[in-house]
Amino acid sequence: MASVVFQDVVKKFGTFTAVSDLNLEVRDKEFLVLLGPSGCGKTTTMRMVAGLEEVTAGEIFIGGDRVNDVLPKYRDVAMVFQSYALYPHLSVADNIGYPLKIRKVPQDKQRQMVMEVARRVELDGLLDRLPKQLSGGQRQRVALARAIIRTPKVFLMDEPLSNLDAKLRVQMRAELKHLQHELQVTTIYVTHDQIEAMTLAHRVAVMNKGVIEQLGTPRQIYNDPRTLFVAGFIGSPPMNLIDGEVKDGVFTSLGGVRVDGLGSANAASAVLGVRPEDIHVLPAGSEKTNVMAPIYSVELTGESTLVTLRAGAALLTVRADKNFVGDFDQMVEIGFAPGRVFLFDRQSQDRVD
Ligand code: ATP
Repeated sequence: MASVVFQDVVKKFGTFTAVSDLNLEVRDKEFLVLLGPSGCGKTTTMRMVAGLEEVTAGEIFIGGDRVNDVLPKYRDVAMVFQSYALYPHLSVADNIGYPLKIRKVPQDKQRQMVMEVARRVELDGLLDRLPKQLSGGQRQRVALARAIIRTPKVFLMDEPLSNLDAKLRVQMRAELKHLQHELQVTTIYVTHDQIEAMTLAHRVAVMNKGVIEQLGTPRQIYNDPRTLFVAGFIGSPPMNLIDGEVKDGVFTSLGGVRVDGLGSANAASAVLGVRPEDIHVLPAGSEKTNVMAPIYSVELTGESTLVTLRAGAALLTVRADKNFVGDFDQMVEIGFAPGRVFLFDRQSQDRVD
């Protein structure tokens, strides 16, 4: 069993608080993603687990053991970094086998284990090469192979795919997911890429300014965002957020967006949130119209068409059918999917519906 538990963990650099009051349990065998914008404290959190950064206050437990005072090399975690951190003068085989060498595993056994793990990540034909003779994706595989050659209690992965091109990133993402399923090792994975988080994680912890704003499955985070920050951060293109007021369950914006049936919500300064995929273009003259607005731009992405409308001061993005055809300034009628409209309080940033 190797859960990772953070209890009231704080990390300060001088007077600056990078992580405040973190309470989180990463379950045994779980793939947990720390997701958030640059500077929110993800890497610092991970480095505290590895022992590369001391905690200012609070406690960290790995597999039930308090590790605050345990040296990094005795924590039994394996890290994979964005930069791969390979030894340039060592061959692929020696890079992969390095953790075994420092643990003085017999040479024969080392060779056998290197072969096995290299086969698993499809590097078995490249074992004699130096890192500089490899592509980015192959280097990434070497870093991964070096991490999985022994079974640590925990994998710590810090943006491991961010140096790869888009196509390779998608391919490695699937491989990572499969690997984790096979190895069943507790994994903490840091990224600022919400698609990576949604596709890989059992649970996602969305971080902002040193605090976890929401913890949940990808589905929960997408379908039930509890704060304005989480709502705006998850989803591509992002959720439409429109300022206005809500009185007795009726939302109105300056631009003429009017949505009723929002319960008994009241807020003088509210934000209405609706995802592009939850707005539908309606046939002209439809009874269900929420908004009629002129087209600002139309972009065909392949699987759908993104239609941006001008609703007063706000721009509203709609994910329409791939066959949608429309011209600049043409008026379009749209409706919002029932139950898929969220209300937030502008001041507190929390959900109010
Ligand atoms: P990124 O995605 O850019 O790596 P992050 O979410 O991983 O961001 P951290 O690296 O954890 O962010 O940094 C959190 C905050 O702590 C940042 O504001 C950063 O400037 C600050 N910080 C990190 N390390 C130090 C340090 N050694 N000394 C001072 N401030 C630091």
